[in-house]
Amino acid sequence: MRPAVQYRYECHQYGGVEALGHTSRDHYNFVNRLKMKAIEGGDAQVVIDKLSQRAADEDDFFYGLNWIAWVYLICGAFVGINNHWKNVMFGCCFLSDETIDTFVWLFEVFKKCMGGVCPVLLFTDQDQAMSNALSQVFPNTRARLCQWHLYQNAVSHFGTLKSDDTFSDAFKKCLRGCYDSVEFEASWDYMMEKYGLEGDKWLACLYQLKDKWSTTLSKDFFSAGILSSQRSESTNNAIGFQASKITSLYDFFCMFQNTISRWRQTETNDEFVDSKSVPKSYFPMTGMLRHASQIYTATMLRDFEQEFGYSLGTICELLTMDDTILVYKVWPQKHPQRTHQVTFDCVNTFVSCSCRNYEEVGMLCYHCLRVLHMHSVSEIPSSYILRRWTKIAKTEVWDRLKQQRVNMSSLKKDCIPWRFQMSRVYNNLIIRSHDNEEARKIMEKGYMCDLAHVLTVFANINLGDSESGVGESTASNSSTITVFDPPWDKTKGRSVRPKSGI
Ligand SMILES: [Zn+2]
Repeated sequence: MRPAVQYRYECHQYGGVEALGHTSRDHYNFVNRLKMKAIEGGDAQVVIDKLSQRAADEDDFFYGLNWIAWVYLICGAFVGINNHWKNVMFGCCFLSDETIDTFVWLFEVFKKCMGGVCPVLLFTDQDQAMSNALSQVFPNTRARLCQWHLYQNAVSHFGTLKSDDTFSDAFKKCLRGCYDSVEFEASWDYMMEKYGLEGDKWLACLYQLKDKWSTTLSKDFFSAGILSSQRSESTNNAIGFQASKITSLYDFFCMFQNTISRWRQTETNDEFVDSKSVPKSYFPMTGMLRHASQIYTATMLRDFEQEFGYSLGTICELLTMDDTILVYKVWPQKHPQRTHQVTFDCVNTFVSCSCRNYEEVGMLCYHCLRVLHMHSVSEIPSSYILRRWTKIAKTEVWDRLKQQRVNMSSLKKDCIPWRFQMSRVYNNLIIRSHDNEEARKIMEKGYMCDLAHVLTVFANINLGDSESGVGESTASNSSTITVFDPPWDKTKGRSVRPKSGI
């Protein structure tokens, strides 16, 4: 709640301003003091302290830092989807610019935090620097362009796209509405000719990249059926909607953490519901549908049910038969021109379709389901069940995390609050002292005195007697990174940020 809303709520609860006993100005001041206390020692420093505290607390938490100074930051998120087709946050970054070097650094850090594993597929904006960095760091990762961004870029190039529905439909058809490459080429040529766009450089460039964005032309590899990085966009909105120019880095960090907590709670809830509930369907729960209800999560079951429903409205015709291999022609009753060819091996229950839905999405298409159903196959063949869509997709991950928490040393945990408290108070002292020579000298003298005493303690208990020994252990465990906030930019129109008491 914003302070004004908080104050109104308090007034309401207490039965009026008089009963509450303090003014709205008092309330604002109090909230500001709380905020200042939260970022005592520097906005950025608090965030870094929190990051290193979490890294010390949680084995599976990772962060990387490589900045020196900034004024405006660009926020980016790595978002994926889980077995319930909901957002999963893999990571979030703040970048000072969008150059190749910065992206290379970012992707290297991402790779490191994923244990060196590269993503199979990434959807990105149409950004040349990012594209170059991707090919350097993830040479084997398929990069796809986000259709949502493409459409927005197209609208900014051709204003008519928004007002002219026929042009918009023609463009969307090229993006994701074509049956095959022949139809794609014909649709593209038709659009270029009808709207007189033959000489347009932007479209010519886009055509060169067609394999990266047309869903028709990229069915040969797994993309989980994600058409665009729209999910990333919605993530940015979900996290950033409360942030404004006066939001401190620490406030943002808290908002971000809250969003992630919500997502994780949803995931835990989804896992629980799927493990306990019995799914329902309009169709009789028998055969493959029943099997699907046992293995798939509720979200994926809905997709399967849809394909299953489509399969009922198809026509199937045997084309060839070679020993145990049968080839069928399958098409929807209403669209005889949308024919696909299904090959079925009735001994090994091998099935494949020219629509390549399984390869792209990881779930059998209605053409295959129709043929399997016709051959009285009552269970989805195990080779066509992609683990990532099942109820047990994350079982191993949950078990591993549980074990890690059990294994964590309690001693390590006990030291952490003290360490962070000391880092903060010392940091505050440094900030207070650095402008004054006398204060600086007191600090330096105090440090030498403390160091000598601490070393004596260690020497006495035979745990080490060298200064470097103590220094190393400190460096590897605690937040030794010190970052100062930048001077506030006083450009015109910039909102006033609450001033720190320091
Ligand atoms: Zn198919």
